[in-house]
Amino acid sequence: MGAFDFLRWGGLEVSELKDKMLQLTREEMQELGYRLVDLVVDHFDRLSQKPVARKKDRAALEKCLREAVPEKGVPMDRLLDQLQEDILGNMIHSDHPRFFAFVPSPSNFVSAMADMVAAGFNVFTGTWLESSGPSEVELVTIDWLRQLCGLPSSTAGLFVSGGSVANLTALAVARQVMLGHRIKEAVLYCSDQTHSSVERGARLLGFEPSQLRKLPTDDQYRLSMPELRRAVVLDRNGGRVPFCVVANAGTTNTGAIDPLPELVEFCRKEGLWLHVDGAYGAAAVITRRGAELLQGLEAVDSLVLDPHKWLFQPFEMGCVLVREGRRLKETFRVRPEYLKDVYRADEEVNFCDYGIQLTRGFRALKLWMSIKYFGLEQFRSAVERGLELAGKVEALLSALPHWEVVTPAQLGIVTARYLPPGKSPAEVNAINRMLIDEVINDGYAMVSSTELRGRTVLRFCTINPRTTEEDLAGTVERLDMLARTAARRLEEQALNFPNVSEISGL
Ligand SMILES: *Cc1c(COP(=O)(O)O)cnc(C)c1O
Repeated sequence: MGAFDFLRWGGLEVSELKDKMLQLTREEMQELGYRLVDLVVDHFDRLSQKPVARKKDRAALEKCLREAVPEKGVPMDRLLDQLQEDILGNMIHSDHPRFFAFVPSPSNFVSAMADMVAAGFNVFTGTWLESSGPSEVELVTIDWLRQLCGLPSSTAGLFVSGGSVANLTALAVARQVMLGHRIKEAVLYCSDQTHSSVERGARLLGFEPSQLRKLPTDDQYRLSMPELRRAVVLDRNGGRVPFCVVANAGTTNTGAIDPLPELVEFCRKEGLWLHVDGAYGAAAVITRRGAELLQGLEAVDSLVLDPHKWLFQPFEMGCVLVREGRRLKETFRVRPEYLKDVYRADEEVNFCDYGIQLTRGFRALKLWMSIKYFGLEQFRSAVERGLELAGKVEALLSALPHWEVVTPAQLGIVTARYLPPGKSPAEVNAINRMLIDEVINDGYAMVSSTELRGRTVLRFCTINPRTTEEDLAGTVERLDMLARTAARRLEEQALNFPNVSEISGL
């Protein structure tokens, strides 16, 4: 394009001009905007009456969605139809009151609207210069979380995409502070129940697999202090450099909480960095029951929590808190010449200095707006309800014949399995695995499975405050029925193919 081409635009019709600038008229924006808001309102309003899960296979979706890049725009009606039918119509709703699989994300409408505003105003929260107001909101909101976790005022933090990047960020700080660039002999420790994002983070930070010690857990799936003590001594004697322990504040598998007070004491004595992955469970600290369970959280070096899980925010939102806040800047700040204008007064916080991203959206807005709108009180009751619901699922399952509660309600998670008499351990595992397929096909509710010491178990994660007692009872009743179907199906398979272990992939 030549330097003066824009002058020629003066001769264009208004409508042509508009086409060149990706613009809608005020009326068009309103029409589209209201329709999209209605779509989201309808989602929140009628979700519990819809199936939890709808999934198509790849071939079917290729047929629906594969096309050449559209050279010309598509009429809005057709676009919205396709959005609703082919895209949003084929997903599992993790905000559904009967979604108990993985970790639900109950979300809330206020935050969904806040995300729309953050996108609408296209807020850049990398530097104070560009977004002083939004940066202050992030500072305030981070500080609320800091206070709720009981950390001191020296703490700083930031919002990132989720727990995975939050763990990576915290581990980068731990590496920088404890090791600088000498990472060769370094060792970090965690339990065998630790989330995979810790392993991935360690890998990305240059550690070899052998530098991450995954220690066995005790009978409640908690990091074992004797194992940790032994491993640290062994490593030191072997000339290695222990530098960090990653503890869980609520494991994804069972909600287990590692012994935080003991870990705090041990790490302090041994000069180790204590990082806590509370992506799933740390939010429970806002309730009285949770705060008791999570004692010690206030004394850790770094902490991760995931507001897009148990603080009811839509994706994506994770949070890192670092006790000595200045360590974030020491780890991440680089000052290039093209950002010179940015560095003005010391009290101005540039969030690009605190983490990996320069350009970053206004994630804080949704948490800030929803806490202001509902009040912490409502958040507290909502988290408390999640704790209660897990107890109720446990009670319902305990009352059924042929069901075994494997780990009791713990921070909103229960695990259990169908255990019909006269089956081998391999058959029991196969039945419970088949049960998940039955559940997905059925669509009424969604649970997921995991493995605990060789046993396939179903996990119920009950953190959606909009889950009703009927939802729970209906789900358990349905599961019991589907479990019998799965058992019958396995028997039929065994008749047709006598070698069960082969066909069920054991
Ligand atoms: C979910 C989870 C993560 C990962 O968080 P994402 O937000 O999915 O990136 C890490 N640790 C634990 C304990 C989790 O439950």
